[in-house]
Amino acid sequence: MPHQKTVASPILPGATLGVMGGGQLGRMFIHAAQSMGYTTAVLDPDANSPAGLVSHHHVQTDYLDADGLKELAQLCQAVTTEFENVPAQSLMALSKSCPVAPSAAAVAVAQDRRVEKARLAEIGKASGVVPVPYALIEKDMHVSLVDTIYLPGILKSATQGYDGKGQIKVTTKAQLAIAWAQLGKVPCVLELMVPLHEEFSVVLARGEDGRIVHFAPQRNVHINGILAATYAHESDLKPSDVKELVDAAKAIANSIKYVGVLCVEFFLLIDGSLVVNEIAPRPYNSGHYTLDACDVSQFELQVRALCRVPLPQPHQHSPAIMLNLLGDLWFKTNPNAAQTPPWEKVLALPGTHLHLYGKSEAKPGRKMGHLTITGSSLEAVQTTTQQAAKILGIDKY
Ligand code: ADP
Ligand code: MG
Repeated sequence: MPHQKTVASPILPGATLGVMGGGQLGRMFIHAAQSMGYTTAVLDPDANSPAGLVSHHHVQTDYLDADGLKELAQLCQAVTTEFENVPAQSLMALSKSCPVAPSAAAVAVAQDRRVEKARLAEIGKASGVVPVPYALIEKDMHVSLVDTIYLPGILKSATQGYDGKGQIKVTTKAQLAIAWAQLGKVPCVLELMVPLHEEFSVVLARGEDGRIVHFAPQRNVHINGILAATYAHESDLKPSDVKELVDAAKAIANSIKYVGVLCVEFFLLIDGSLVVNEIAPRPYNSGHYTLDACDVSQFELQVRALCRVPLPQPHQHSPAIMLNLLGDLWFKTNPNAAQTPPWEKVLALPGTHLHLYGKSEAKPGRKMGHLTITGSSLEAVQTTTQQAAKILGIDKY
């Protein structure tokens, strides 16, 4: 049983909630907060940030700017984050003036793969779900001395990586040396490349009182390191695997005394074993389907956990598939000039829910929005997904 403790009083609608980071995750948090009657504030340097555009207040400074942080703290009764590369020290500074969830310490775990993997390995001793074997590459001598059991592997920069950025596949030590130089000899982890059967994630919310609620494991398909699609319906995971993933995710949240929405990524290997990949201390791309297919979304849970109001166990009322809409879709008819995809054709299909993030310029690989498809049966959802993908020119998902 998670420990129970006395919780400070709830922060009720009417209060102002802040979010560090102005991306799409912040925007969807803002939407959820506003629909519940909260006033909102965003801190992000970009004048046109997706969240800044829809928030009551936009503090337009760098994440480390002392005046910006002070202004945000003065405006808000509580602050959360939407971007794991927001410096933990900024969250620490804010926490001196108002409640911050997730905490700087919890976010710091996810900000450095070395700390994250060590922690996940430790927690995995009890849950049985451990990370893939890895070695630290921090000095030239680590490259020459590294055990070849980690090859073929993926060299990943310890900090600042996301969507497959800062990662290079290597098969030999010679390639490792070149890859490490390419990454600027920054601290890295070298992870053994494992044969993936499928990828899953668990999105959960943990309150300050230790209560955890969670969504069912979602199956994710990544292409070039970026999430392409999430399948949120009965998967071919065995019930015992579902339990193992959910229990492992809960153990991680409890161990780092996490407060807020947390996503844990897992790999199901070809031999049937489950390993933990990484954690994201915030709502996650694979949880976007919850906006349209569940009675409470991951963003509403983020608001509730932050404000210490009760966390309901989510109920999914429809099977769903989510397709990420990357900027590449804007260049399907003309590779040199962005053109708006034929949304009207997609919206003519039953059960399509279009979410665009208000980004002014489409670029290949840029997350511009997502499309969730719901329906009364899995077959209906699959058929509509195929039709929508065809209209948009998405061939792999
Ligand atoms: P990011 O922080 O960019 O999400 P990940 O570590 O999750 O980085 O890697 C992105 C994707 O690359 C994963 O979802 C998976 O498809 C693939 N991948 C990452 N690590 C491994 C590995 N050790 N073996 C096989 N595939 C991997
Ligand atoms: Mg990942």
